[in-house]
Amino acid sequence: MSEQSRPLIPQAFLARMERWLGDEYPAFLASYDQPATNGLRANTLKIAPEALRERLPFALETLTWPPAAFRVSEEEQPGRHPYHAAGLYYLQDPSAMSVAALLAPQPGERVLDLAAAPGGKATHLASLLANQGLLVANEIHPRRVWDLAENLERWGARNAAITAETPERLAERFPDFFDRVLLDAPCSGEGMFRKSDAARREWAAELVLGCANRQTGILDAAARMLRPGGLLAYSTCTFAAEEDEGTVARFLETHADFEPVEPARQAGFAPGRPEWLGNEKVGEAARDGLGRAVRLWPHTGPGEGHFIALLRRCEREAHEDLPGWRLPKLPVEATRFYETFCREHLQRAPATERLALAGSYLYQVPAGLPDLSGLRFIHPGWWLGTLKKGRFEPSQGLAMGLSPADVRRVANLDSAAPQVLTYLRGESLPNAGADGWVLVTVDGFPLGWGKRVQGTLKSHYPRGLRRV
Ligand code: SAM
Repeated sequence: MSEQSRPLIPQAFLARMERWLGDEYPAFLASYDQPATNGLRANTLKIAPEALRERLPFALETLTWPPAAFRVSEEEQPGRHPYHAAGLYYLQDPSAMSVAALLAPQPGERVLDLAAAPGGKATHLASLLANQGLLVANEIHPRRVWDLAENLERWGARNAAITAETPERLAERFPDFFDRVLLDAPCSGEGMFRKSDAARREWAAELVLGCANRQTGILDAAARMLRPGGLLAYSTCTFAAEEDEGTVARFLETHADFEPVEPARQAGFAPGRPEWLGNEKVGEAARDGLGRAVRLWPHTGPGEGHFIALLRRCEREAHEDLPGWRLPKLPVEATRFYETFCREHLQRAPATERLALAGSYLYQVPAGLPDLSGLRFIHPGWWLGTLKKGRFEPSQGLAMGLSPADVRRVANLDSAAPQVLTYLRGESLPNAGADGWVLVTVDGFPLGWGKRVQGTLKSHYPRGLRRV
């Protein structure tokens, strides 16, 4: 890319980066002449990364870190392949993949993703939890939260609750509760300038200060939800020290029970830079820990700009745990319709405990989830299906969380055959076999439901997801 065709980067931003980076600045500036890397992360809930690489008809280049990360060419249109619809991978900037990998939740833990839409990091956390334990994925924005719900559904997450709350209201309800909390904060987006016109257009010095101010409040709420001894990851996709080192330093000054943790360093991990805070009034102790943070740069690694700080809350004497949600007994009719569906269409009921109705939607609520009543939520757990007049209709979420061995009838489509696109467009297909609900799969991986009647399979692929 020539200097003339370089995306227009705000001059005030460049001047500040030149001041901060010194000798490193020319390499940083030259990164804007290089195309961004397109990253792809395998869904280890469904497939081993190497098996995915072998199956896909286009080349994936394995990245050295984190596990399950690849580079892919945009020209291959990886978002159009049916394996994407089957939730076998997520397209994500490689730097962004480091965040969940460093937070490293263990199966069985309780994890909160406080600012989760559209779900890049939440799907990664779901894979690391391996459907054991609890994931609460929260997004304050009323439209973006639906993108989050769709991505977690496609992913096959069975232990996730999706809420749409303010950090403050969540913090009131979940004090000292989670083993790990991720705050991927709303920020000025300087690390996305290579990829996003909007980030370049909207940038202003005042935006940086406004974001820093907002992050302080959200980080405080995030910290209140972490149990003593738990781990919090604070991340942004900006370089601005006010929002990165500054937000963490202000936090440490008022939270003596937290300390920064040094992650195992990977190639391309640069340290935090407390000296960039200039005259900002930050105590010595807080400044000291900031070097343990990680900054990822576009000129030294395969991804865009990111900042990650890991903060451990000190252990203290035993604290009171929140009780699990005492769910009201399911109406007899609801149980009957669900059981009839399971008996007729499945090899066994995938969920028999902690069933809950929200309106006409039937859910399995993850074990240990506290009472969500009164909070705004999209799904309080794994959405199994909907009670319609006199019957139960299975959901897309149920299809994506099952395996072909769980159901009585499967229609498997070949990923290279045109029928799979016919199904994804919502059109019917000729398909021999017994009548009833059929799990439609691509090369053995669930895509959704179909209903077979006399040799015709009617696509029940959700309207909002259909290919045009
Ligand atoms: N973690 C996401 C992912 O990996 O796909 C990206 C999150 S994005 C960087 C930050 C999110 O914070 C946005 O979805 C935005 O709607 C949300 N947000 C904006 N203002 C907020 C606030 N005051 N409190 C909590 N979240 C907020």
